[in-house]
Amino acid sequence: MKQQIYVYLYSEPTAASLDLAQLCDYVKKVLPPLEVLLRDSFIKFHLGTLSEESLSSLSQDFARAKVRNPLRRGQNFSPLPGEVEYERRRLTNPGKNIWGILYDGYKLVGILQQLIPRPECNLSHIHVVFTNQLFGTWDKDDQRYHARVSIYGFPSVISTTGIVEAPAKPKEYYLLKQQYTMLGMPDATATKLDTQFRGQFIDHADERLTEIMKGYVMQAVLYHLWGDPFCQDKGCRLYNAHWQQEVIEAQLESEYDFCPLHQGKLQELIQRI
Ligand SMILES: [Zn+2]
Repeated sequence: MKQQIYVYLYSEPTAASLDLAQLCDYVKKVLPPLEVLLRDSFIKFHLGTLSEESLSSLSQDFARAKVRNPLRRGQNFSPLPGEVEYERRRLTNPGKNIWGILYDGYKLVGILQQLIPRPECNLSHIHVVFTNQLFGTWDKDDQRYHARVSIYGFPSVISTTGIVEAPAKPKEYYLLKQQYTMLGMPDATATKLDTQFRGQFIDHADERLTEIMKGYVMQAVLYHLWGDPFCQDKGCRLYNAHWQQEVIEAQLESEYDFCPLHQGKLQELIQRI
């Protein structure tokens, strides 16, 4: 008998434009044999109301997962009381937006992994966590941390801040930003550039977020089922985009969801699972 495979999508309360029910329907449409379930935010679902003990240990763990210096790898440090306090406030106010902190993506996955109950810790369960935390991974060629949209693992994490911050904006954007700053107009920069480049990159609370995330959720699910979910075709939702324009092309502008190769592979998969 085939074993039922479950997909759990965990919500991020700050992402107002993220429609999880729509994402759930999408995964079911692409892979009908999967059982796809919506869940509350990851911490709330698994821990409920935080006890003083779990609040205290989670605050410590998250503070330790912070990347203090993006140019230094594998930083092990004792977090300062202020850093732990910040995490405690974040955990007790999950609806509040946070900005400016970069976390080590693999440490983040490790913290969340410990919270998954044993019966759901096997290959029949796919956990996909949306978070507003910005995370990065160490790039050995560049010798620095780079922000990422997603890390696929157990669980997979997808950042609603990362989709704005991680894929690079058009080169002209950076050039103009530099020029405005040199002209002594740093305040005008953000507004002016945002108007000029509107639509060319993804913004916070972007109304296209759900449509964009369809591809990232599928990458997470297929990472679990295939090992390697990525595609070379720039019009396929499985394309591993590094530029904002590539995200827009693969997730919004392309005339098809999946390239012919992956359409075929998905059909095979439906027969098998
Ligand atoms: Zn493809």
